[in-house]
Amino acid sequence: MTSASRFDSDVYRARVSRAAQLTRAAGLDALIVSPGPDLRYLVGSRAETFERLTALVIPAAGVPKLVVARLETASLRESAVADLDIDVADWVDGQDAHALALAGLPAHPHIAVSDAMPALHVVPIAERVGATPRLATDVLRELRMIKDGAEIDALRRAGAAIDRVHARMGEWLRPGRTEKDIAADIAAAIVAEGHTGAEFVIVGSGPNGADPHHEFSDRVVAPSDIVVIDIGGPVEPGYNSDSTRTYCFAPPPPEIAGAYAALQEAQARAVGAVRPGMRAESIDAEARDLLRDKGFGDNFIHRTGHGIGLSVHEEPYIVGGNDLTLRPGMAFSIEPGVYFPGQWGARIEDIVLVTDDGCEPLNSRPHDLVVL
Ligand code: ZN
Ligand code: ZN
Ligand code: ZN
Repeated sequence: MTSASRFDSDVYRARVSRAAQLTRAAGLDALIVSPGPDLRYLVGSRAETFERLTALVIPAAGVPKLVVARLETASLRESAVADLDIDVADWVDGQDAHALALAGLPAHPHIAVSDAMPALHVVPIAERVGATPRLATDVLRELRMIKDGAEIDALRRAGAAIDRVHARMGEWLRPGRTEKDIAADIAAAIVAEGHTGAEFVIVGSGPNGADPHHEFSDRVVAPSDIVVIDIGGPVEPGYNSDSTRTYCFAPPPPEIAGAYAALQEAQARAVGAVRPGMRAESIDAEARDLLRDKGFGDNFIHRTGHGIGLSVHEEPYIVGGNDLTLRPGMAFSIEPGVYFPGQWGARIEDIVLVTDDGCEPLNSRPHDLVVL
């Protein structure tokens, strides 16, 4: 267990106790958290989920308990569980682990389960409880959306690390190479620049850039291509980077330059609007209205952004219809794009952190269409 892979145990102690308060405030009897980002957030565990139930049960009152198969208790050593006031309830094959998780709770408890819990545990738990559980996000979003000092430090390190990868793009992104070969070099650089892995690498050249979720292919990059590069991964203790820049190899024709200029203005306007008290949907509207007014409304086909932390996509979502009020400590992407099917696409993405009076961008590479 290296200290770099998780925070101080005081951080986790405070989170678990706050989660219990929020469980109480939500009128629930318990929160049941299986392996995934919520468990990692609460106790620093990177355990993975299998058919054998592992779950942290946080009751509204009383001592939390970790239900874990005896043969998997070793995984606890890599979390803060041993340092906290958490009972370990281990079980062996043949025992009813779902009943064990619910033991000590009222007969028909009101519970919430983590979003990442597999159906093979949710369904048996729901059957025993006699009701559909709520989602833990309802309880934990209050905690996970507002990043503390240590989380902000990790997100800043992630932002700087991915900026260094973009700064080196000319080493790999060249006409005549396939998207796949370029992506392999970028993935290696993501690790070399300080991430523990490459979570995703999008190299969308020419028409592939018009597909926001294209990853990479055997397509050979052409000298006239516009290329969307959207990359990220986690740095210790698990916080992600996510940044997009758009590249080309020669100054683009006027139609492309014009659309890109509108995109750049939309992205800057949305970032400029981020401050406490603004609603998430208003930030989305800043980018969307500008692109619509410039005639590119139909070319911007996704939300403006997503929260980021232990998960690449988490709350708050910067999307129409989300009236959530922004508060200091929230971190999310601002990533409008314009897409011309069969031709080209462009996206500009930075992570921003809401501060007391505005926001701090965590990425600082230039926003221009980069001519390599
Ligand atoms: Zn996505
Ligand atoms: Zn991205
Ligand atoms: Zn993103």
